[in-house]
Amino acid sequence: MENNKQVVTRFAPSPTGSLHIGGSRTALFNYLYARKHNGRFILRIEDTDKARSSTAFESEIIKAMEWLSLKYDEMYRQSEREEIYKKYIEILLKNDNAYISKEDTGGDENKRSEVIRFKNPNEKVTFDDLIRGEVTFDTSDLGDFIIARSIDEPLYHLTVVVDDKEMGVTHVIRAEEHISNTPRQLLIIRALGFEEPKYAHIPLILAPDKSKLSKRHGAVSTLDYRDKGYLPDAVINYLALLGWNPGTEQEIFSKQELIEFFSISQVQKGGAIFSEEKLSWINKAHLKNLSKIELRDQIQKRINANYKALGKTTEIDESQAEMVRDLFSERISVFCDIDEWQKNGELDFIFNDPNISKEEIVWKDSTIESTILHLNFIEEKLNNLSESEFKYERIKSAIWEYADEKGRGEVLWPFRFALSGQKKSPDPFSLAEVFGRDTTLKRVKNAVILLTK
Ligand code: GLU
Repeated sequence: MENNKQVVTRFAPSPTGSLHIGGSRTALFNYLYARKHNGRFILRIEDTDKARSSTAFESEIIKAMEWLSLKYDEMYRQSEREEIYKKYIEILLKNDNAYISKEDTGGDENKRSEVIRFKNPNEKVTFDDLIRGEVTFDTSDLGDFIIARSIDEPLYHLTVVVDDKEMGVTHVIRAEEHISNTPRQLLIIRALGFEEPKYAHIPLILAPDKSKLSKRHGAVSTLDYRDKGYLPDAVINYLALLGWNPGTEQEIFSKQELIEFFSISQVQKGGAIFSEEKLSWINKAHLKNLSKIELRDQIQKRINANYKALGKTTEIDESQAEMVRDLFSERISVFCDIDEWQKNGELDFIFNDPNISKEEIVWKDSTIESTILHLNFIEEKLNNLSESEFKYERIKSAIWEYADEKGRGEVLWPFRFALSGQKKSPDPFSLAEVFGRDTTLKRVKNAVILLTK
């Protein structure tokens, strides 16, 4: 390609299903390449197969691209371009590069109908794939392939060639499964005298067991990841690494960095293995980019949506969401982690005073009597702190020496248990700070009352 020509890439999904992870990766590579070269990125909906295409899938594709912020500069629908294809079919017919063929199309009455076939010159076709290098196909096995059902019903190979030419596409970056379509498309391109675009066939996405990634491996639709609470920037980051690497150790990228570093020559030939574990690790890294307020709002939204889905009218407010954030954000990789905790009741103690079990609040071989003594000591010490002093370090230093002397488990376990009622929860000082003076004192007192009964 001449260097002075503006780069134009396209993402050309058929709206016959939702946009899966592989499709989003193809869109991303086209997007990154265009942005990096100050080019144009086109979305082209390939909906000539009327029976299988639907506008519902088209909107889902667009929604997924919006979610990932893969902004395109132009959008086309093949179903609205039939006149253009017709013009080129006529040229091919006129130049004797194609012909109308009457044939049996099967069906009940074994009807004969017309199709338009491309006159295959039966030659070897070679092209220089930007990822795979020189690729040669002998097209004589392909026969005179069909390019249209009729003059008004063009088929895939023809529409792709015509659109790529009409839209000025310079780089065709698409999934590896299309590599065998390339020789047919090149034959049509050559017959029409078009300039050939550059091709880059990107590697398959495989499941961890190296089979082709499919539904049975879990979520494949891009919007499923939105619904699980992944951050779009994290998904973009991970998709970029499916087949591409920057040649350095860096794994966490902003979209801007991806635009800067992306290069087709760093795309591998072999299949790329999809791992949700890695995706969630990357998501966790991106969560750190959220402000405390964004994090709080997302947590609040998630928890309230979960309540609603469970048929409950409960809602948490901002301050409760802040508590969850302050106690749990380190443990969140993906927002859907919250779902499980919420389902298991692991968050309830934040919103409501816990039900304390008398047996469980007593540390190992300690006794009820000494547990009461410890809790009374804690209550007295914390009572001396004002609301504004009620911070992690102050709370800790008020109790630490005592706990050291009497045994940390002996003292801190009942303290923590009084606050959370959970065998596992954040440490008692964090809990006390997050709950604040009143709730902390109330819960410690409640535990003492229970133990004295
Ligand atoms: N419409 C084709 C598909 O969804 C893509 C065609 C192309 O990228 O050339 O697989």
